[in-house]
Amino acid sequence: MTHFVLSNGIQIPAIGFGTWQIPDGEQAYRSVLTALDVGYRHIDTALSYGNERSVGRAIRDSGLRREDIFITTKLPAEIKGYQETLDTFNRSLDNLGVDYIDLYLIHAPKPWNVEGDGMEYMPQNIETWKAFEELYKKGKIRAIGVSNFRPPHLDVLLKEVEIVPMVNQILLHPNHIPKDNIKYCRDRNILIEAYSPLATGKIFDTPRLTTIAEKYNKTVAQLCIRWSYQNGFLPLPKSVTPARIKENFNIFDFTITDEDMQQIGQVE
Ligand code: NAP
Repeated sequence: MTHFVLSNGIQIPAIGFGTWQIPDGEQAYRSVLTALDVGYRHIDTALSYGNERSVGRAIRDSGLRREDIFITTKLPAEIKGYQETLDTFNRSLDNLGVDYIDLYLIHAPKPWNVEGDGMEYMPQNIETWKAFEELYKKGKIRAIGVSNFRPPHLDVLLKEVEIVPMVNQILLHPNHIPKDNIKYCRDRNILIEAYSPLATGKIFDTPRLTTIAEKYNKTVAQLCIRWSYQNGFLPLPKSVTPARIKENFNIFDFTITDEDMQQIGQVE
């Protein structure tokens, strides 16, 4: 499995299996087991997805060693503050049944139901981040990052904290390319993870992508996931369908030309 390398030297498998909206129980358990079986070694979950228990059970039952699987989970957007973060982190450890997390993310700069850019939450995010740094230094987390942060949030955070986030997980697919955020993160060696790399299933209505995918004898899903990977963004495709879980992982045997990369979606 190909890897990206984070700013602290940690290797992160170059595709993650997304688990948002997969209900806890049999479906989450089976999907994660299938993903591990076809070769994924990186699972993206969150406390707020409600499926950490099934993810943890699948990881244990996979027969793989804990150290061979990269687990990302997230602190809910609604929970902020130093002690609140430490307490909530322990809930995720308990749910997953593990004693460390590979990557822990602040799910969003502000609670989901708050209007606006949420800049007023930055003092609380800084307190939260201090707890992240503490957990990182204690070895409970191998890498720390944020999600849904934009340059104004990162500007404030970076001025106040010791450790620069290693990752920013953001909405990113060929029909949604936040160029300012991409440049900001690239300039600071913050790895971008592309969430909803298939636009939560809406990417398939894009004719230009169908035409380009046919040239490579690949599906639109594979084209989009490969485009993300070739741009240096770590894609996190989700599926509960075994054939698609496998298809989405099968992107390492072709290369998109520079011209087609631009046609799919221009990043710079
Ligand atoms: P996505 O991966 O963009 O798309 C998933 C949808 O596409 C599902 O409806 C799936 O259907 C379908 N699909 C998957 N592979 C396909 C294929 N090969 N052919 C046809 N259809 C296919 O969805 P997402 O869940 O929005 O994003 C992926 C992951 O990113 C999430 O699961 C989560 O881990 C992460 N994420 C993070 C945040 C955040 O705030 N940090 C927000 C959103 C997402 P089936 O499942 O029915 O097969």
